[in-house]
Amino acid sequence: MQAQLLHSFTSAYKTLFPGGCPACGGKIEGRGSVVARLCAACFGSVRPVSEKHCAVCEKPLEFDYEIETGQTYTCGECRLNPPIYDELRHALVYEGAVRELIHKFKYQGASGLARILAKLGECKIVPWLAGYSGAVMIPVPLHRSKLLSRGYNPPYLLALRFARMAGLKVVEGSLRRIRNTRPQFGLKADERIKNVKGAFKVLNRNDIKGRTVIVFDDVYTTGATMDACCKAIKKAKPERILVSALCRAGAD
Ligand SMILES: [Zn+2]
Ligand SMILES: [Zn+2]
Repeated sequence: MQAQLLHSFTSAYKTLFPGGCPACGGKIEGRGSVVARLCAACFGSVRPVSEKHCAVCEKPLEFDYEIETGQTYTCGECRLNPPIYDELRHALVYEGAVRELIHKFKYQGASGLARILAKLGECKIVPWLAGYSGAVMIPVPLHRSKLLSRGYNPPYLLALRFARMAGLKVVEGSLRRIRNTRPQFGLKADERIKNVKGAFKVLNRNDIKGRTVIVFDDVYTTGATMDACCKAIKKAKPERILVSALCRAGAD
C-alpha cells in the first residue's frame, strides 16, 4: 500500500499550474503537483500513514512483525481493551503541508481546500470505504453555534467527497453535538475525554439501526471525540461502527 501511495503521488507530479502554493503561499516553480497544486517542498512533505500498523486502531507498529509474517497484527492496547469501533482507517500524517492545509481549511474559512485534501487522501480512504457498500458515513458534527459562525462543517465537506467517490451515502443531522464543547486543542488526554463526554446525541435512530456506520473526522488525535460519537451511535444499535479520518496527529 505504501509503495502504491507513493507511486500515486509521484505519478501525479506532472503538470504545471500557475498561482501560489495553497499550503505555504510560495511560488510554484516549474512543475507543480497535479493532485493538489502544491509546491515541490510542500508536496514532498505529504506523508501517507505507516503500512505497518495495528489492524484495528491503525497505530503504527514499532517492528516488522506484519511484514515478516504476512499476517495482521492487533496491538496490545486493542487486545486488552478493545475499542468501541471495529476498525479505524486514516490516510495521512498530520504534519507539513497537510497540517497547514487543515489549519486553513478548519479555521481560516478556506472551505475550497476540501478538494485538495480529499485528493491527497483518496487513494487510501476510498478503496477502504468502497469495501463497505451500503454503509452510511456520519461526519463528526459541529455545535450549531460553531456551524453558524464558521459557515460549514469541515468533516462534512470531506465526507461528501469521499462518499461520492466510494458510492456511499452521507447522513447529516442524525448525530447532533448537543453541547458546545471547548476546543480539544491544548487539553490533556483525560481533559479531552471529560470535555466531550455526553456531548453527542443521535436524533434519528432509523438512519443508524442495523447499518454499518462510518464516523468521519478531519483529524484524529487521541480519539476522545470519536469515542464520544461512537458511544452515542451505539445506543441506536448499528450493525457495526467504523471510524475514519483524513489524517492522524502523532501517528508516528
Ligand atoms: Zn508550498
Ligand atoms: Zn490497536
